Amino acid sequence: MLELSSKVQYVKGVGPRKAEALAEVGIRTVSDFLFYLPFRYEDRSRVRSIRDLRAGEDATVMAKVLGVRVKRTRRPRFKILEAVVDDETGSITAVWFNQEFLKDILQTGRRVLLYGKVDVARRGPGLQLKNPQYELVEEGDFEPTHTGRVVPVYERVGPISPRMLRRICHSLLESLPAEVPELLPDALRRRYGLPPLREALSRAHFPEEGASLGLYNTFRSPAQQRLIFEELFSFSVGLALRREEAASLAKPRVFEVDDRIREKVRQILPFRLTEAQKKVLKTLAEELSSHRPMQRLLQGDVGSGKTIVAVVASVIVMENGAQVALMVPTEVLAEQHFASVSRVLGRAGYRIALLTSSLKKSERAELLRSIAAGEVNMVVGTHALIQQEVRFQSLGLVVIDEQHRFGVLQRAELRAKGYSPDLLVMTATPIPRSLAMALYGDLDHSILDELPPGRPPVDTLLIESGPREQVHHLIEEQVAAGHQVYVICPVVEESERSDLKAAVETHRFLATGPFSHRRVALAHGRLTAAERAEAMSAFTAGEVDILVATTVVEVGVDVPNATLVVIEQAERFGLSQLHQLRGRVGRGTAPSAAVLVYRAPLTPEAKRRLEAMVETNDGFQIAERDLDIRGPGDYFGTRQWGEPLFRVANVVRDRDLLDLVRREAEDLIASPPTTERDRIVNHVIETWGHRFGLATAG
Ligand code: ADP
Ligand code: MG
Repeated sequence: MLELSSKVQYVKGVGPRKAEALAEVGIRTVSDFLFYLPFRYEDRSRVRSIRDLRAGEDATVMAKVLGVRVKRTRRPRFKILEAVVDDETGSITAVWFNQEFLKDILQTGRRVLLYGKVDVARRGPGLQLKNPQYELVEEGDFEPTHTGRVVPVYERVGPISPRMLRRICHSLLESLPAEVPELLPDALRRRYGLPPLREALSRAHFPEEGASLGLYNTFRSPAQQRLIFEELFSFSVGLALRREEAASLAKPRVFEVDDRIREKVRQILPFRLTEAQKKVLKTLAEELSSHRPMQRLLQGDVGSGKTIVAVVASVIVMENGAQVALMVPTEVLAEQHFASVSRVLGRAGYRIALLTSSLKKSERAELLRSIAAGEVNMVVGTHALIQQEVRFQSLGLVVIDEQHRFGVLQRAELRAKGYSPDLLVMTATPIPRSLAMALYGDLDHSILDELPPGRPPVDTLLIESGPREQVHHLIEEQVAAGHQVYVICPVVEESERSDLKAAVETHRFLATGPFSHRRVALAHGRLTAAERAEAMSAFTAGEVDILVATTVVEVGVDVPNATLVVIEQAERFGLSQLHQLRGRVGRGTAPSAAVLVYRAPLTPEAKRRLEAMVETNDGFQIAERDLDIRGPGDYFGTRQWGEPLFRVANVVRDRDLLDLVRREAEDLIASPPTTERDRIVNHVIETWGHRFGLATAG
């Protein structure tokens, strides 16, 4: 008999090759497998009379096989299998392409269920069923799997087809015991009317007769809700445990702020801090000087001035003799941050280093040596900073910038290397508060809710693609006034080559045509780091008037003299991305504008995105609108390093539930130990521990 914790290779129909494919997407146990839910359900329950079928519809029929034959075609190796079936109201031909093996299954006289598209027959009169799903009708109390019911549709896993997944899942459910151990506390199950786990698993894969397709396809059936609840609960317990664990940690030393450091900070600051910045810094200073490691998330709209907050915190740490790591998502951004941070801190005598993959081997070795020796005060780089061979002499503060992806793994990695630095996570993707609480529940939160003074709002214009005179006129106006302009072209992975070509061509056109008298540069992700850095730093230094760029400038780039951003094919960008791009201008005191050039016709969603951009400049409102428009889309990139963060839950779709579950999980962890609490904690450590770095908790 199988248990939920059994390895997936022991499941009937799986075997070593399939087990490998399943492991690749994180499915290792029976429980993992059963939590891999269909992404869609199809109603194939209503059996129709053959006589009533109409061309163009999808239909289920139950009929007897009258005969089968294999037809060769002129194309070699392309065979058609035809079966004539009859249900007493009439007969119809079913055809399959290249599935010759079916002739052994669909033997004459057998009763079958077929589900597929009804078509006009290619030859001869009448209708045919094209490539229908098939299933033999067994004697006795037969329960169909693929047809004749509401059926689950799975996403293929490597070589395992949706049909195979359905079959394996069905037989797996049959071999499970009538009751499986429950994770959720009984009281909780009763309070929320959640069905038993065993039942929920069965129903979530094979809905009961008469099930509401609408409910299932929106993941609102009790069975699915129960599984979502369970997953979110485990996750939230994990976060609560981490929080508890963090509270019990002590830093090896604290970072005090004295008058000398205050004076140093005053000298460095290029401007007066906003009240919001002061308030956040006060909190940070308190936490740096406390024995508990800081774990703080700083949210602030684009342009709210997060960098300087991180810089001041870094000064405090560096003045106390410890090192700082500043991590950003991309190398381009690392180069940018390195340049701007060096401008402020280099003068004050700190040694700042940039660690990227483009360093020569010898340079890299030397840099690693000086980091380990404590000669470098601050290192800027990507996630690679805390990986591999990088060793710090005394890592006091880690700043993770523009990190809207889930950061627990990085935190776990740091811990695993024996560091317990203070941690500041900064994001400009404003996350609605309830979501932030639930996802970053083990972090404390601060918000920069004020822009630096004298920032005029950015004007946003929509222009339909066509002759560009108007756009060129706007560009010329800004450049003539001594300002700078971004022209952004989209590059998406699926069409990377043609997209890059478009960016290159836009650059050539502008540089040789309407702006041949201006300085035009090009920056995209496929240039070498040196070429890109050259273009970017020339732009930063004001030596370039117009920068044609792909989304490499999306986050973090800061050139206050830039006053116009033209976004080509704006309909192809997501809303948050558009907001980020718009945030590249309006960083100084001069009036700024964003021009969104789109190609008609727009999809309804694209139209809503562009309209939202015109209607509001507020990042939090944009975030809410983004959630509404995208619905349960991939808001956070819920996939992280190959494995999805959640299997059944979707943090956007299920955000109300997430909020409620989080509170339940926190209550449980705050309550005195009982056998039930221990059981749950142990389970969470077993199943989620590796993602949370929770191995030592309990
Ligand atoms: P973000 O929060 O998007 O990372 P940045 O830290 O890049 O924003 O800051 C945006 C711009 O505002 C930068 O040019 C920065 O120098 C400037 N800035 C930040 N704080 C202030 C302030 N208090 N007064 C004036 N300018 C500021
Ligand atoms: Mg920034």
